[in-house]
Parts: sequence; structure tokens; C-alpha cells
Amino acid sequence: MARDYDVIIVGSGAAGLAAAVAAADEGASVLVVESEKKVGGSSRLSGGHFYAAGTSVQKAAGIVGDTADAMFEHYMTLAQWLVDPAVVRRYCDLSAPTLEWVMGLGVKYHKETLYVSGVGSVPRGHPPEGDGEEVINVLDGHRSNKGVDVVLDSRVTGLLTNDEGRVTGIRIGDDEATCGAVILATGGFGNNPEMIEKYLPRAAATGDWRWYIGADGARGDGITMGQAVGGIVDGHDRALMLATPGFSRDLEVALPGWLVMVNQDGRRFCDETANYTVIAGLLNKQGGNAYAIFDEPARAAAKRSPQFQAYWVNDVLEQKAEDGRIFRADTLAGLAAKAGIDPDGLEGMAERYNADVAAGEDTAFFKKAAMAPIQTPPFYAVEIRPAILCWTGTGLRINADTAVMNKADKPIRGLYAAGETVGNLHGDVYIGGGGSYGPCLVFGKLAGENAARYAKELND
Ligand SMILES: Cc1cc2nc3c(=O)[nH]c(=O)nc-3n(C[C@H](O)[C@H](O)[C@H](O)COP(=O)(O)OP(=O)(O)OC[C@H]3O[C@@H](n4cnc5c(N)ncnc54)[C@H](O)[C@@H]3O)c2cc1C
Repeated sequence: MARDYDVIIVGSGAAGLAAAVAAADEGASVLVVESEKKVGGSSRLSGGHFYAAGTSVQKAAGIVGDTADAMFEHYMTLAQWLVDPAVVRRYCDLSAPTLEWVMGLGVKYHKETLYVSGVGSVPRGHPPEGDGEEVINVLDGHRSNKGVDVVLDSRVTGLLTNDEGRVTGIRIGDDEATCGAVILATGGFGNNPEMIEKYLPRAAATGDWRWYIGADGARGDGITMGQAVGGIVDGHDRALMLATPGFSRDLEVALPGWLVMVNQDGRRFCDETANYTVIAGLLNKQGGNAYAIFDEPARAAAKRSPQFQAYWVNDVLEQKAEDGRIFRADTLAGLAAKAGIDPDGLEGMAERYNADVAAGEDTAFFKKAAMAPIQTPPFYAVEIRPAILCWTGTGLRINADTAVMNKADKPIRGLYAAGETVGNLHGDVYIGGGGSYGPCLVFGKLAGENAARYAKELND
């Protein structure tokens, strides 16, 4: 029986649309099915940065000698090798060629905006002109020009398989469409509380503080559908979370340097201005929360800065203290009692920190920001939790060719996955800005090529 399409792609974010363009380039007939009313998913909302090594943009910026080998070594060391080396290796190898491919399609990355993303020292963060939305628009334009069909507002509910377990199509309620290969590119599961409970204890622990910055369609459907045909889930408890006092639902990536952050022992545990990629993990090591501490002059001097959310400003902090949302006390011991912090620890921390402020050097954590002493009452304590969920990293295990793997470590025939639906790529610590969108494009393109070739071979 003739199939409806060579390749069907479930989801139209960066991974799905890159797959669509690449599969069409291989000569496949392609359908993209999207559950929402427009294409793009979280990718459209995203900064769209691409973490890559050895690119022409780096060379233009004078960064020569960065390689896939160097990226792989940094990635694997940061992840303590608790990720899939073969998949990471493929990402590193294909990061530069894929970025060049995306540029060839019309997306612009500029040498002037290249930056060191994450905790590395080599600039590998490539922000696109026009953010993630522009990447989506460019990919969708090529998708359309290449005659790839797209169906919107249609949530795929299951996969079709034949007697041999090969994936042969998709189901949308009572409707079916057949194909040679399916690519699952449904994004993450930030909007699925049950899956968060099951796979992301670190996010579940933040309770009603948690909110998700991504798109409505991120319900983990691809992961569930992949599991239903034998795919296995990898990358338990992997996600990017950001620290927040929970005052509003605005994206925030940094805390002001003028405050200190302490755990329940009253001890500092980090440079408060450390990269957002590490702060949430450090908070989790303290039991999932911490307190930002400052005194009255620091509060009074807090001015609006484009680097921080607008509530780190004197009058808002005053109002929050009035409302009881921030603890306030005339002594550090009194503040400690209100916040449940060890008073001796807090006083000892303040003594050492104040000496460091006077000497102009953070001898404990080497913070570079302007520091303010903690010496003039009243004192303030604001609870901080890693409660902003940016993306989820638990998902289907793929091999380096993007085939979804079963528990016998064999590819499920006819089934591929890419993007946030994949689970064996991210370590405990996020590699840096572009470390999610980059692999979406890399593995989306690769999945499109491989699925198209697989479907073509079925014809033979
Ligand atoms: C605000 C924001 C900023 C970010 N900034 C960056 C950044 O700068 N760099 C970086 O690396 N990462 C960033 N990220 C993360 C990154 O953008 C995402 O991880 C990535 O875009 C996910 O792409 P995707 O293609 O896997 O999924 P998505 O883009 O979410 O696409 C998946 C699509 O599948 C659809 N879908 C889901 N289920 C079904 C179904 N059953 N049937 C049909 N369709 C379905 C969804 O509706 C969605 O459109 C950011 C994320 C956000 C939200």
C-alpha cells in the first residue's frame, strides 16, 4: 500500500523545521504536524543562541583554533561524562557545519555579538539576528518553498507500527497517516506537571513557585509516544532552572552583586553573580533554597539596572518587606530567627564578608561585582529558589544518528527524535546559552537527512 509521505515530523520548532528542510533536500515527501495554531513552539519564544565551535563567525571575530575536539572535551568534563559521549561527539562535530547551513539558509550570526556562554572561556555562544523567532521564520520559509506540507492545530496522539515493530505512521485521534519514517520533535515537557513529578524531582521540589517559560505545546507527547513503541527515557532530573525570589513571572538570569546569598547554616556558598548555568545546581545542593541578605543602605541604594529584574529596586523591596514577603529585623540574630537561618553562622558570615568589603576583595568566592557591607539595620532576607523552568533535558534516548533506541540498545526502525524530546545530551550543568537550541538544529537536520534516506531505502 502506498504510503502518504516518506517522512512525517511531529512538532514544528527548530528541530522539526530543520528536519523538514533537510528531509526535503534529500528528496523526501514530508509532512509536519503541529498541535498548536502556529509553527515554532518554544523555539519561536527563544533567544535562539547556538553553542558551536570552529565556526566562520568565530574566525571573523579573531577566535582561531577552536575545534570540535576542544568543545567535546569541555562538554564532557563539565558533564562529568554522565551524558552519551557518542551523541555529544556528533553534536560537537556537526555544530559548525550546521551553523553554516543555517546561515546559508539566511539566518545572520554576527561576530560582534559572539560571547562566552556558560562557564567556559572560549566564545561559543552565537546569538542570531532576530532571536529564535527569526530562525523559525527562515526555516519555515524554506519549508514552504520546498513544498513540505504543514498541518496546524492537530495533536498527534500515537504512532502506527507494523507486525515487525517498525514505525509506519501517526495517529491523530481517529485519523491516521502513513509514512516511511517518523521524527518526534515535540519539544520538552515543561507544561506537564505529572511528567515533572516523575522525571524532574529538582523542579517538582520548587512547588508552586515553579513556572515554565516555554510554549503551551511542551507536554512531553513525543516522549510518551516514543515510550509506547519501546523507546527508553534517559537523562533523569536534567533541566535548566533559574534562581528567583518569586516576585513575578518574568525571566531573570542574574542576581545583583550587592547582596549575599546564604544557606540555612548562614554560610555563603557561591559568588552571587556566578553564571546562571551553575546557580540553580548550587541552590539544589543547599537543599533547594537560600536567602539573599542585605542591609538598609544596600536596600536604599538599589537602583534599576537592565541586568536584573525591576523588583531589585529600593521602593519595591521596601514594599515587599511591608507586605511580609521579605523578612526584616533590627538585628542579624532576629533576622536569622525569622528566616530559620543559623544565627551564629549568619553573624560569622557577615563579619567575614564585611572585612572583605572593607579590603575590597571577596576572599571566599572571588566575586567581582561591587560589594556592600551588611552592618546597618534593619537587615533583610529574601528567599531564593531555583524555580524558573527553562527547558527539560529528560527524554528519549537516541543514537548518534538520531534513531530512537529501545531497551535492547537497538534502534527502533522508522523512528527518529531530535530537540528537547531527546534525553541523553544534557548533563547536570548546562553547557551554556545555545546548548539547547544548537543541538535542536544539529539533530533536527541530521534526523531529517537520516529519516529521508531510511524511507528511501524502504522503497528499494
Ligand atoms: C524564552 C526562551 C528562551 C530560550 N533561549 C535559549 C537560547 O538562547 N539558547 C538555547 O540554547 N536555548 C534556549 N531556550 C531553549 C530552546 O529554545 C528550546 O530548548 C528549543 O527551542 C526547543 O526546540 P524543539 O524544536 O525541541 O521544541 P519546540 O520549539 O518547543 O517545538 C516543539 C513543537 O512540537 C509541538 N508539539 C508538541 N506535542 C505535539 C503533538 N502531540 N503533536 C503535534 N505537535 C506537537 C509543540 O506545539 C511545538 O510547536 C529558550 C527557551 C525559551 C522558552
